Amino acid sequence: MRDETKCLHEGYTPRNGEPGVMPIVQSTTYRFDSTEQIGDLFNLPVAHMYSRFSNPTVECVEKKIAALEGGVAAMCTSAGQAASMLSVLNLCSEGDSFVSTAAIYGGTINLFAVTLKKLGIECIFVDADAPAEEISKAFKPNTRCMFTETIANPALAVADIEKLASVAHSHGVPLIVDNTFATPILCKPISFGADIVVHSTTKYMDGHALQVGGVIVDGGKFDWKNGNFPEFTNPDESYHGVVYTESFGEAAYIAKARMQLMRDIGAYPSAMSAFLLNLGLETLPLRMERYCSNAMAVAEYLSKCDKVAAVRYPGLETDKYHALAAKYLKGASGVISFDIKGGKDTAVRFMDGLKLASNEVHVADIRTCVLHPASATHRQLTDEQLVAAGINPGMIRLSVGLEHIEDILEDIRGSMDRL
Ligand SMILES: *Cc1c(COP(=O)(O)O)cnc(C)c1O
Repeated sequence: MRDETKCLHEGYTPRNGEPGVMPIVQSTTYRFDSTEQIGDLFNLPVAHMYSRFSNPTVECVEKKIAALEGGVAAMCTSAGQAASMLSVLNLCSEGDSFVSTAAIYGGTINLFAVTLKKLGIECIFVDADAPAEEISKAFKPNTRCMFTETIANPALAVADIEKLASVAHSHGVPLIVDNTFATPILCKPISFGADIVVHSTTKYMDGHALQVGGVIVDGGKFDWKNGNFPEFTNPDESYHGVVYTESFGEAAYIAKARMQLMRDIGAYPSAMSAFLLNLGLETLPLRMERYCSNAMAVAEYLSKCDKVAAVRYPGLETDKYHALAAKYLKGASGVISFDIKGGKDTAVRFMDGLKLASNEVHVADIRTCVLHPASATHRQLTDEQLVAAGINPGMIRLSVGLEHIEDILEDIRGSMDRL
């Protein structure tokens, strides 16, 4: 099946007489005929037993996203943040380190640099554009994974996934890619060598601003038996001695994430959230096409506007990341970052002058919206971190929606003219 077909038919296949639409199984529990059957589930969870870590409705969405990414299994989470956190915690323990590219989502920088540090896990940030040999120097014997974003939010740097995967693999560790802005419609990181993919499904996948969610997808190709990951190959005493690589084979990573971490932490979405996410997924290919074409038209306007100092949109031929975008992306997605002449004050006046586009803490939505990263999502970062994340004080992040392109352009032109 192609993506358009997968979005409609993967994950849920009704049998004779069953509901045509994936049902919402709003139940925390599942009933079994005997004590023995439940006991067996604590050896190997072959059925749903408790909705803190698995649920039939959520499972349908997990299967659909795994199929779209070309992975072997997926686990949904209650937020994109939970997906990023669990994707790393599944590999790193106290005393370990991991490497991340520096230009990533501000919330992830905070998670990695502050919260994981408190757990004794060190994040080493690197410049994604540096040569492979340079990046390679950041790895230490205790480094357990590498993390990057396909299209960085909001710097819009495009990751050279093949380069980063080969550096990570040369150190015997997997590459985790946050594919939120590209979605599997525009990029399938696993096909370029990534091992694990995470998403904030809150963004394009849902698209309608209805649910906060995340997902982790397991590519199923990484060799967990290479000696660096004893938790995958030794019995898990917290789960009745299960050995993940033996019991789950190529899906060992997701099985461990669910049976250890989700069991203990419970950052699992509700069935209702998964149902809403699925509605968004059904039209994702159609929407991504329009996000790309609308954003391209806006980026072209901005790049010619004399009140704009710089535009970042990997779809523009003049963009620093255009060559990488041409290699890895089927379209440059719907987010544009640009610097307005006059710095922060003018940026704020431009944003407040918009009538159609809303000022909100959101991105990758069906409706056009704007945000000023330096005073909002990235407010907690130091000036140094802001520069590393590719953010200027006057930068505006514009998330182009699916309104008619002429209405979007009129709104932006109007506010520019009033500056
Ligand atoms: C929003 C976002 C996240 C965090 O996701 P939430 O669903 O808000 O927790 C992670 N990565 C990227 C690229 C994002 O845009």
